[in-house]
Amino acid sequence: MRESPRTSGEWLKRFPDEASCRDYLEKIRWPSGVQCPRCQSMRLWRRRNRPVLKCADCDFQISILAGTIFQDTKISLDIWFQAIWWLTNQKTGISAIGLQRAVGMKRHETAWRILHKLRIAMVRPHQDRLTGAIEVDEVFLGGENNKQLIGVAAQIAGKKTGRIRMEKITDRSGPVLQGFVAKYINPGSTVVTDGLNSYCGVRNQGSIHQPMKKPYSWEENGGDADELLPRVHRVASLLKHWYYGTYHGRIDPMNLDTYLNEFTFRLNRRTSTSRGLLFYRVLENAVAKDPRPYAPKKMSEDTPHCM
Ligand SMILES: [Zn+2]
Repeated sequence: MRESPRTSGEWLKRFPDEASCRDYLEKIRWPSGVQCPRCQSMRLWRRRNRPVLKCADCDFQISILAGTIFQDTKISLDIWFQAIWWLTNQKTGISAIGLQRAVGMKRHETAWRILHKLRIAMVRPHQDRLTGAIEVDEVFLGGENNKQLIGVAAQIAGKKTGRIRMEKITDRSGPVLQGFVAKYINPGSTVVTDGLNSYCGVRNQGSIHQPMKKPYSWEENGGDADELLPRVHRVASLLKHWYYGTYHGRIDPMNLDTYLNEFTFRLNRRTSTSRGLLFYRVLENAVAKDPRPYAPKKMSEDTPHCM
């Protein structure tokens, strides 16, 4: 189903109320129609005020939200939909205070929690690993008090950067970096790194390791280290720009991975001309997720002066 709104006007017409959001979710979850799990009937009644379908033949009730990130939510679906729309339609995303203002929410904490859950939903439940030739490196994010090491993998697509993966890592040891490669890159790929020894073991994972050595008298000739692995460094520079531009470097390290999800989602879809499709993708992931309780450690990102 690709029937997703393309503009704000279309979006408002498409989702004028709670029932329209519920119908849309139902179609994403069960594109071929809903079948009663008890009696296999496909005759189901829709409840006007509840996200529940009732079997016309055996009275069995099916929750539209159970098993999705919306399960047990006290927030109406149209607020969730608005949040997804704002999150996917702003080029650099939206902070909690920005969302609170845009949607007219009373509590900053509610906006923050919605965004936290949606960022988790920005990664597909069974995300595939990268294949082909991939540059891998580590970059630092943050300042003295919240410095974090991030593993970055960027697919080589001719002269361009293909898809990326990134994750917070603890250190540059062999087990950590090889673990990162094993998680995000398919065996049989070519892993291009700098000369760091920690990567040597990727050969044992069935990949080809291609360490880039600096040419003789590289520094003397004004060589830029970034040129050895240009794609990961371009990604790192965009990441830093986003981290300081949208969040003023205030992301709590405990929740950093969810923000990296969002960055990865945006970057991997940067050429998509349809914002509506991004909206659809997040919703699609949201209904495919297991319900999880809110688990943020604490809120530190986007305090009111951040916008
Ligand atoms: Zn039934």
